[in-house]
Amino acid sequence: MKRVVVFTGAGISAESGIRTFRDSGGLWDEYPIEEVATPQAWSKNPALVLQFYNLRREQVANARPNAAHYALEELRSVFELHIITQNIDDLHERAGSTNVLHLHGEIRKARSTVNPDHVVELSGNLINVGDTCPLGSQLRPHIVWFGESVPAMDQAIDLVSTADLFLVVGTSLAVYPAASLVYHIPENAKAWLIDPNPQLPAGLSGYSILAKTACEGVPELVNHLLTDHVF
Ligand code: NAD
Repeated sequence: MKRVVVFTGAGISAESGIRTFRDSGGLWDEYPIEEVATPQAWSKNPALVLQFYNLRREQVANARPNAAHYALEELRSVFELHIITQNIDDLHERAGSTNVLHLHGEIRKARSTVNPDHVVELSGNLINVGDTCPLGSQLRPHIVWFGESVPAMDQAIDLVSTADLFLVVGTSLAVYPAASLVYHIPENAKAWLIDPNPQLPAGLSGYSILAKTACEGVPELVNHLLTDHVF
């Protein structure tokens, strides 16, 4: 079975109503990054950080997977499918995907501030000041903040470097180290970028570009792959 690896960003969830970070009207307009998504912000004002993620968790809970999330899942009938996402939402999983590697954490989970291996699934939408793990420490969102290391990066590189086909969907490729995955495709692999405003690093070869939204471009490409078995 050929291996398809898909790398998604905030753009794949845009048509589900979850705002991206950098597009106009994005989240950073209201909440500056350094105030809510850094270890320094957590030290300075945990209540504000929790409020920001509580609002986002509620937004994710009210969103539904879209045609792009569902179309990717159809690839599983013919290919070995792996999804690597920068997204913290769970829309890939709710569309039926199981092999999902979250590079930047998961909004539906919280973790201990003293033992990062202690991760819990949240039953509701809130983490409050005073909510503690069994070890007695404050729970924090299970999110990789700017300035923190990305523990799943090595696993992601292994997947990309063994891909027969690599699909990149809805990402500005501005957040590192995640964006560096585009450099790890094998020489003979085919790669596609689907994004209405595609931003490939200059000089990067081997990629075809589909300048469409995720809900237009992903089902179109999936249909092409399933009917023509190209590559
Ligand atoms: P980004 O905001 O930097 O870039 C968004 C990209 O999506 C842009 O290239 C834009 O052209 C594209 N886009 C906009 N509408 C689209 C559509 N309908 N279909 C396809 N593409 C569309 O997002 P990023 O590159 O993922 O990086 C920012 C960081 O923000 C990531 O680390 C991610 O963790 C985080 N983030 C996650 C979510 C989420 O979980 N849904 C939402 C916002 C931000």
